[in-house]
Amino acid sequence: MISSKTSFIALIGNPVSHSLSPIMQNAALQYLGLDLIYIAIPCKDEDLELVLNSFKKINCKGLNITIPHKEKVFNLCSEISPIANKLKAINTLKLNSKKEWSATNTDVEGFVYPLKNLNLAKKKSIILGSGGAARSVIQGLINLNLSTISVISRNKSSLDELIKNFDSQFQLQGLLNNDDQAQFLIREADLIVNTTPVGMKTTGYENIVLPYGEAFWRSLNSKTIVYDLIYNPAPTPLLKLSAKKGCMTIDGLEMLVAQGMKSISFWTDGLEVPFHVMSDALKKYL
Ligand code: NAP
Repeated sequence: MISSKTSFIALIGNPVSHSLSPIMQNAALQYLGLDLIYIAIPCKDEDLELVLNSFKKINCKGLNITIPHKEKVFNLCSEISPIANKLKAINTLKLNSKKEWSATNTDVEGFVYPLKNLNLAKKKSIILGSGGAARSVIQGLINLNLSTISVISRNKSSLDELIKNFDSQFQLQGLLNNDDQAQFLIREADLIVNTTPVGMKTTGYENIVLPYGEAFWRSLNSKTIVYDLIYNPAPTPLLKLSAKKGCMTIDGLEMLVAQGMKSISFWTDGLEVPFHVMSDALKKYL
């Protein structure tokens, strides 16, 4: 029950109306029996500083940060975890003992959650796309000790920047989606991760396309695990095709829930919520 003692956690972004975080986070807070609610607050660029400073003064116990503020909040935080620094993106904040924002990023832990028990060390992987999510995915695959990480993108400049960014840590292979070598890599891959938004349900009509078109997937075979970061629709067109070819598939809901579990743990100094509590709430809603 919401009372005059209830505090809140908020998602700050723009837009936020499509977000599923309130559904799964309120289920988690209820499970933990905490007198807290989770709400989504749309916030324009020019209001970000004002909103974050105001929230320090009231009964706000933590924040999630989403597009377009994941980089902009850096200047407003006094403590930043090594992983958020490395990814150049923040998705979770809480107030420290000095009432200043302490920040981290839970996307890497969220991404690796469904992969942890699949023995991927020394295996070959491909990432599709070279945007923000690709950074977390690359870091996750480095942490899991994959032997090869190839990034296939349509965008040469963000691809080059990404490769440079991980230069000191790992030798990524980068290629454009129309490169002939892509088919060889797909044939050999143990894991392919889609981080492009292609296949995502969009308002108005059902998107039925595959990343880089149908012909791009002709060499996919059953030994490859296909992980799509998109969670709506479930399954995505890519996961439907992959399942038809006999591949193991993983959808983006697992990452979404797992990064949310890690945020809860950050806000509450270590409390844990079972995965199914949050995923059941989402499945019921979707
Ligand atoms: P982003 O920074 O905009 O990056 C998207 C990447 O996909 C860019 O490299 C972009 O290339 C490429 N791309 C966009 N449209 C494309 C198209 N039609 N064909 C080929 N490539 C295309 O976005 P992001 O933050 O990385 O997020 C990417 C996706 O991951 C979104 O669908 C998001 O919802 C999902 N995601 C899911 C989770 C989860 O928890 N499950 C977490 C994070 C992200 P250009 O630069 O050329 O546009």
